Amino acid sequence: MIEAVNLTKRYGDKTAVADLSFTVEPGKVTGFLGPNGAGKSTTMRLLLGLDRPHGGDATIDGRHYRDLPQPLRKVGALLEAKAVHSGRSAYNHLLCLAQTQGIGKKRVEEVLRLVGLHDVARKRAGGFSLGMGQRLGLAAALLGDPAVLILDEPVNGLDPEGIVWIRTLMKDLAAEGRTVFVSSHLMNEMAVTAEHLIVIGRGRLIADCSTEEFIERGRKQTVLVRTPDAERLTKALAREGATVTRDADGELSVADMDAARIGEIAAAGGLVLHEVVQQRGSLEEAFMQLTRESVEYGAAGAEPKSQGGAE
Ligand code: ADP
Repeated sequence: MIEAVNLTKRYGDKTAVADLSFTVEPGKVTGFLGPNGAGKSTTMRLLLGLDRPHGGDATIDGRHYRDLPQPLRKVGALLEAKAVHSGRSAYNHLLCLAQTQGIGKKRVEEVLRLVGLHDVARKRAGGFSLGMGQRLGLAAALLGDPAVLILDEPVNGLDPEGIVWIRTLMKDLAAEGRTVFVSSHLMNEMAVTAEHLIVIGRGRLIADCSTEEFIERGRKQTVLVRTPDAERLTKALAREGATVTRDADGELSVADMDAARIGEIAAAGGLVLHEVVQQRGSLEEAFMQLTRESVEYGAAGAEPKSQGGAE
């Protein structure tokens, strides 16, 4: 189990992680979701003892990472891709790592096979693509057969086949009872990978709930209505407190009112309805809605917004 308690980290006057508390349970994939700059990497670095917090505490099974006697056997981590000595082969890179922790050659062969790099294991890792670098990083994380995995944006650089592969691998690892904590800024990827979500924005906790609940919470409460009496229905619904917008095709999008009430109002006015559909929000929409206030940069990515409130 991973536990963060009131974690706080500042860089100068910028607060990267603000009073963040959560736990990550074993047996399921937990997604760590947030827009770029939200503080995901910083949090993971704090969990791994690569940075010291200004406040709070981060532990893995009740211990600080730095106090683990053989950390690779307890925690496997994948941080930024391609931190590999360029001249070394994938095999030698893993072997060096393994030897520091008393892990044998057999396990090196095993993880190379597991991540699909067996055939290129003797090639220079420096010549690897980003996707192959990710696979090598994952092999390193898995070397010690750890109970806890901390993976920062592992999908980056992978092709579609690689994405499906890593998704399956993470689920399998969790199903074996491991703790799998994986960050991403890609909501839809997390929707199909993670069972539980910890969502942050500007270093602060936005949601800590099941993926299903997250989608439910952010669902836009609108109802799509198709009717030949659009004008009259719009007026009738608006009179009863609904917010109605009409799109180019003449369809109505009705907010602040449920489908049953819309049907009743239409019936009372003798208005014909062809279709009434409750709209389901995607995880993407839920995410945008819940993080809107905390996104650091606008959609264009150019204009930094005010940092007020984060400090
Ligand atoms: P994420 O992983 O969610 O994209 P990060 O943890 O990388 O977010 O960054 C959180 C915030 O902290 C960002 O505003 C980033 O610019 C800032 N930050 C991260 N690392 C440093 C650093 N070493 N020095 C200064 N600022 C940093």
